[in-house]
Amino acid sequence: MKTTLRTDITIQAICEGFVYNELEGRGLFGLSGKLTIQPEYQRNYIYADGKKDVAVIESILKGYPIGLIYFNTVAPDQFEVLDGQQRITSFGRFVTNKFAIKDENGMEQYFGGLAKDKQEKILQTKLLIYECEGTESEIKEWFRTINIAGVPLNSQELLNAVYSGPFVTLAKEEFSNTQNSNIMKWSAYVSGSANRQEFLERALDWVSKGNIGDYMSRHRYDDNINELKTYFNTVIEWVSGIFKDVESEMRGLEWGRLYETYKKQPYDPNKISEQLRALYADPYVKNRKGVFEYILGGSVITNLLDVRVFDEATKRTSYSRQTDEAKTKDESNCPLCAIGHDANKTRIYTLNEMDADHVTAWSKGGTTDITNCQLLCKTHNRAKGNR
Ligand SMILES: [Zn+2]
Repeated sequence: MKTTLRTDITIQAICEGFVYNELEGRGLFGLSGKLTIQPEYQRNYIYADGKKDVAVIESILKGYPIGLIYFNTVAPDQFEVLDGQQRITSFGRFVTNKFAIKDENGMEQYFGGLAKDKQEKILQTKLLIYECEGTESEIKEWFRTINIAGVPLNSQELLNAVYSGPFVTLAKEEFSNTQNSNIMKWSAYVSGSANRQEFLERALDWVSKGNIGDYMSRHRYDDNINELKTYFNTVIEWVSGIFKDVESEMRGLEWGRLYETYKKQPYDPNKISEQLRALYADPYVKNRKGVFEYILGGSVITNLLDVRVFDEATKRTSYSRQTDEAKTKDESNCPLCAIGHDANKTRIYTLNEMDADHVTAWSKGGTTDITNCQLLCKTHNRAKGNR
């Protein structure tokens, strides 16, 4: 890869012909049309939070360096931004009066309202730019290794760069587009944001059963995303059809895996809703995120719920009572050993050799207090399993 350091290009030159797409949140072109600011493999513009973009302008006004910028030379006098897109979009938007900064008196000032010397200071600032020339794979391999200032690329953003092409472009139009009206619905089940590619990542994760890179590689040059889109929508329709209630704990669950595991089971949404209400109201259920799979699995896998366990004091009290009683009868302090016929029939276990158990199972309405606590030897407790 060949690199040339340029120190002569000013902000004014970059902002010549600056085009920003408000709808897509993308800085598109600059440098009189010679520069593509956001190639398809780049992340969306995420500096527009009223802080990072303002910080870029304040740095420039104070004469602080804003860091290296990398261009990929795609043809003679034609470049695309490899690294620096967020910073370029920030000053491009500022110079075209898209946002304001606060001046020394705390007043909001757009570029057009700044004193002439400040405007000039910004426009005449020279940037440090590396122009890189190399093969597609060289550039992408290198791109994979860099971090964009302040905000490292996450794994999906890297995959988008590595497998850039028509498939990624179409997939991002659907799943990384903040204007997509479905995002609100998806957000009930998928956590993250469209800008950081988290809906796309989830959709790919589900359709590929966890092999995202492999899937993207195989579909890289596809001219449609039908399978990806259909599968994702099927999973979302499935879960929203079964669970009428939308709870915050549903967000981010492994719906793809749950769909594959339970899609053949029939469910009655009204009954499901009643079960869900009851479990949410149950003070013994510690893990509400586990409620959904517990219900889908027929309400038997109790360990998904992390049901509240007996505290130490309760265990010790029950142990003493049970052990004293067992000693007077000359039988084991594990009630299940005591009714057996082997050598453990009279064995007295230490507290450490025993586990607390619900006499009446939690799932049958048993409480987690001393009236419902018994200690069993570890072997018998394990044999009773999850109830
Ligand atoms: Zn036992």
